[in-house]
Amino acid sequence: MTSRIDCFSRSYGEARSRFLEAATRRGLQVGSHVLPRPGADGETLAMDLAVLGPAAAQALLIVSSGCHGIEGYAGSGAQVALLLDNELEAAARERGVAVLFIHALNPHGFSWGSRVTEDNVDLNRNFIDFSRTRPVNPDYERIAPLLVPRQWPPPAMNTLRLAAFVARYGMRALQAAVSGGQYVDPDGLFFGGHAPTWSNLALRRALREFGAGRARIAWIDVHTGLGRRGGSERILAARHDAATVARARAWWGSAVTSTQDDTSLSPALHGQM
Ligand SMILES: [Zn+2]
Repeated sequence: MTSRIDCFSRSYGEARSRFLEAATRRGLQVGSHVLPRPGADGETLAMDLAVLGPAAAQALLIVSSGCHGIEGYAGSGAQVALLLDNELEAAARERGVAVLFIHALNPHGFSWGSRVTEDNVDLNRNFIDFSRTRPVNPDYERIAPLLVPRQWPPPAMNTLRLAAFVARYGMRALQAAVSGGQYVDPDGLFFGGHAPTWSNLALRRALREFGAGRARIAWIDVHTGLGRRGGSERILAARHDAATVARARAWWGSAVTSTQDDTSLSPALHGQM
């Protein structure tokens, strides 16, 4: 039995090795989408995929990590632990559920210690229909010069003006302005992109390959960095009609929160996966 602590890594390269090793130990084949860019240590960057359990199962559980690059450490550790978990494998077999592990959705950010992709895109804002009018975030545009100041370190006035925004509109409004997503400045924060980015296209290929023909698909995408240290939240990121919310709560428990009705620590977002 591998200790849970041994499932966690200190670099993307180490995390990838552990994932590949755990999948191999389980006898699984790993498919890889390689990003043609070097990692921070010169290592190969890839989105890796492995399926546990009956391949032709009608039900598929997806567990993915590293949507926001550097947040991949937690998700990767959980994936390695699950791959090594005999009880999970037995339960999947018994219930007829296949489990698809997607390791490092955004391998560039994972390796380089960044939240965003190689083209400064927030992957979890990149899933909009780019043939249509982009979502707008006027509050972001208003405070963008304060968030990404030309001068570094920024002058004290910068901080004061941000504090004034908070005093007037509240912390929640600042969080929504910053993290809601914006589609105007490729050098700015939480940029949703001008087109589907590499990770978006690779993920779509993976979902077509492994998701097609399933009767039911559930998906857990592991993130970090929101809320209190050590706390956790199950955030519904899907259609928000009553039936979907009710089904999510039936599957994942009544504690499931939503970004659409103010029950989540996260504000409403555009372009989620
Ligand atoms: Zn995240």
